[in-house]
Amino acid sequence: MEFKKSKKLFEKGLVNLVGAVNSPVRAFSSVGGNPLFIKKARGSQIIDVDGNKYVDLVLSYGPMILGHRHNKVQKAVNKALKKGYSFGASTENEIALAKIVCDAFPGMDKVRFVNSGTEAVLSGIRLARAFTGRDKIIKFSGCYHGHQDALLVAAGSGLATLSLPSSKGVPEGAVKNTLIATYNDLDSVKKHFEKHDDIAGVIIEPIGGNMGVVVPQGNFLKDLKEFIHSKGALLIADEVMTGFRSKFGGAQELLGVEADITCLGKVIGGGFPVGAYGARNEIMENVAPLGGMYQAGTLSGNPIAMVGGISTLKELKRQNPYSEFEKIGEKIENILLKAAKKYEIDLTVNRFGSMMNPFFTKLKVTNFEQAQTTDTDMFATFFWEMIKNGVFLPPSQFEAWFLSSAISKEDIATIEKAVEKSFFEIQKNHERTS
Ligand SMILES: *Cc1c(COP(=O)(O)O)cnc(C)c1O
Repeated sequence: MEFKKSKKLFEKGLVNLVGAVNSPVRAFSSVGGNPLFIKKARGSQIIDVDGNKYVDLVLSYGPMILGHRHNKVQKAVNKALKKGYSFGASTENEIALAKIVCDAFPGMDKVRFVNSGTEAVLSGIRLARAFTGRDKIIKFSGCYHGHQDALLVAAGSGLATLSLPSSKGVPEGAVKNTLIATYNDLDSVKKHFEKHDDIAGVIIEPIGGNMGVVVPQGNFLKDLKEFIHSKGALLIADEVMTGFRSKFGGAQELLGVEADITCLGKVIGGGFPVGAYGARNEIMENVAPLGGMYQAGTLSGNPIAMVGGISTLKELKRQNPYSEFEKIGEKIENILLKAAKKYEIDLTVNRFGSMMNPFFTKLKVTNFEQAQTTDTDMFATFFWEMIKNGVFLPPSQFEAWFLSSAISKEDIATIEKAVEKSFFEIQKNHERTS
């Protein structure tokens, strides 16, 4: 397998782009080598500029849940393009997508569309503060909520990969109202409430996806909600990654916990830039023009992006691939565990619906600290062997893999072969940890 053209483009890209990428997670910093440049994709497969074909388990970090360029989405978007790209005024499709989203999330009466997950979360946080009149926010170590200043502390994947404790350029003042707790540890939340009486809300990924996949244990989410409600604080669910991923709607319903404010992104745009935040009427009525919390956007509710979202969610609802995702996820988990056993490599696989990933550790992983016990050198070997054997993975140990409904039996066979070869190479090249 050759990567000549990617290498050339990488070098060319370095001149006018930062690291030749427009998002640091796309750089191959933690696995070595150059990032791949993509030519095109269709269904479950993605093709780089050198013509190498891969089963795509990145799926644009989540949005492409139907696979790439689903016929119905492509048709709908082509049609919308003929009517205009942006008007700065309302269109009927904004109402249509809002209805689909509110119907799918029982806790949402109203929704506001924005252009990214980052924007959704920063607005959701502002709303929690506006509604409660309090300033402080609790977040969990290892959870990522976009790149807004206030939440760029202990923020998971991108930062963990680059070993940055937090970002430069974030003034102390911007994070002075951010408190950090430990995922799956209610006591770490309670401690903050003992010290502070001005906590507006707790923001959480209901399934952690940005420290690798980390699943809430037992009644953690329910207990968390009950406790913080007793203190007058709001539960903010960041479902940018999990929304429409594990069921039609969010992880909240699946886990039996309805949040006060929900933030969405990724899948709701089907590959176009859409984010959203929503809540029950009583909370949403604080947003301008109904209330005093200002939040706006030139391209928000963009007509092409709305059609991308509507056609994706309609097809997703029709396909209802969630039980199939569960089966395929289990299959891939078993493939990984079998190879790990054969080659005597310590491995933990975390999985929830169509999100999963292996950690090269023997520890159970239920929080960020445990996730960080993974052997990232082994992951780097694993990553490149998977690439060479036709499977495109996120170039970081701390990113989730995603499944699309376009994945086929042949794709799973490709994954199985690639995993076998990768573990063989790991055994050959690494001293084992046990
Ligand atoms: C991706 C992600 C974000 C940020 O979304 P962008 O569209 O990249 O700004 C926020 N929260 C979570 C949980 C995410 O996975």
